[in-house]
Amino acid sequence: MKELKLTKEEQLKELEELAKLAGFMYDDPHAHPLCYAAQADSYVIRAKGKIQKCTVALNNDINTIGTLHKDGTMDLDQTKLKKWLFAEDKACPLQSLAMEKLAVPYEGAGEHLKEPAAV
Ligand code: SF4
Repeated sequence: MKELKLTKEEQLKELEELAKLAGFMYDDPHAHPLCYAAQADSYVIRAKGKIQKCTVALNNDINTIGTLHKDGTMDLDQTKLKKWLFAEDKACPLQSLAMEKLAVPYEGAGEHLKEPAAV
């Protein structure tokens, strides 16, 4: 019997088709890129307990959304957190915050999340 070998892209395409046939919604993450900074379950924990969202704007005040205490509890600034979760640009919320003049515009922000170009 001949072995069927599918590339990763072909496997994903097959899974997408099966999911659609089964009635599931499928959202291609490449069609709507989403930075981890825009996700509610993603945090950057700095060495002294500072909690942030973005891994680029480390020295920007809008990026510091709270504190992780030694007992494991967190204090979160809900107003700042919402800015990241509901940013217009989900691919790079930092860009939206810079447009709102809440963050320094960072050249190349979001570029690090793009897939490397095929060679
Ligand atoms: S620079 Fe933009 S894409 Fe990169 S981590 Fe920060 S918010 Fe996300």
